[in-house]
Amino acid sequence: TTTVYYDDDADRSHIDSKTVAILGYGSQGHAHAQNLAESGVDVVVGLRPGSSSRAAAREDGLRVASPAEAAAEGDIVSILVPDTVQPAVFEEIRDGLEAGDTLQFAHGFNIHYSQIEPPEDVDVTLVAPKSPGHLVRRNYENDEGTPGLIAVYQDTTGEAKDEALAYAHGIGCTRAGVIETTFREETETDLFGEQAVLCGGVTSLVKQGYETLVDAGYSPEMAYFECLNELKLIVDLMYEGGLGEMWDSVSDTAEFGGLTRGDRIVDEHSRERMEEVLEEVQDGTFAREWILENQAGRPSYNQLKDAEESHGIEEVGRPLRDLFAWNDGDDEETEKAEAP
Ligand code: NDP
Ligand code: MG
Ligand code: MG
Repeated sequence: TTTVYYDDDADRSHIDSKTVAILGYGSQGHAHAQNLAESGVDVVVGLRPGSSSRAAAREDGLRVASPAEAAAEGDIVSILVPDTVQPAVFEEIRDGLEAGDTLQFAHGFNIHYSQIEPPEDVDVTLVAPKSPGHLVRRNYENDEGTPGLIAVYQDTTGEAKDEALAYAHGIGCTRAGVIETTFREETETDLFGEQAVLCGGVTSLVKQGYETLVDAGYSPEMAYFECLNELKLIVDLMYEGGLGEMWDSVSDTAEFGGLTRGDRIVDEHSRERMEEVLEEVQDGTFAREWILENQAGRPSYNQLKDAEESHGIEEVGRPLRDLFAWNDGDDEETEKAEAP
């Protein structure tokens, strides 16, 4: 069985006398920096001159320097800029890494696919909250935790794992529970999940369902509510109590219809495609494609983004969401509406 690490498993002496350089002050960066600082850890934020994030970090009471200066000062250097710019930022900061320092990530992509080749005399670790940064911050402020992962890629000091656990404690992850993984497993499962299920699979399912109804003559508004809006209610139930709680909460009709028809929609062909997508993640095909796409200035990415934005479900959804009161911008306690 998997070991889950909690607050008591973390020894804060592995971080309390160290300086942590947080490179980037976006989704993850602002949360790690503020949570660590409030946990009593010395934090310096590394941002490029003219960065739009500099003012925000200063307003939050943090010390700001250039990425190179911050990395030189830091004993732990946490790279929290977008994955696509990490290799360039790493080149700027590598001279500041001393023997025994730690290079730390929140996602394994650049290490796993060799886009960053760290010096041999530093520890290389991963501390990845399984949540967007604003929740990592909000949970910490509410004395709650955010579940997370740790991994060790390179351990020169013999203390890499203990230090990663202490860092996870500092950002509040051990309050909720932390499990140990590897860079390979974190990277491959993360990419597969977002491609096949979470981001790619779900949006395609929603669009196909919407198009099927609209093409059959049903109103786009009805199709929007049925195929997109209600998805949240279903996901909330699965999140709380697994598939079982969802099935228990919907009508028997919905349950019978879903159980008899679901596997006809996402069938063995989809399963074969999932296995293909997984192989492309495992053999580096996807990583190569994405790296080249960035080098070429993102032509396909921009085209696909534009097409997605002008899809009928988006055209109909924008005014609908403005019209209805459930979307007041405060997602803190979205009421749980009745399931179908
Ligand atoms: P963001 O896109 O939010 O990072 C933005 C920050 O990076 C800004 O402070 C920005 O500053 C800075 N930045 C952007 N480009 C550069 C550059 N060329 N040089 C220096 N600084 C730059 O990143 P995320 O927080 O989303 O992701 C950080 C890491 O965390 C990634 O490895 C990601 O995979 C991982 N992760 C992200 C999660 C999430 O929910 N977002 C969840 C778990 C892991 P500027 O104003 O200068 O542009
Ligand atoms: Mg991801
Ligand atoms: Mg219904």
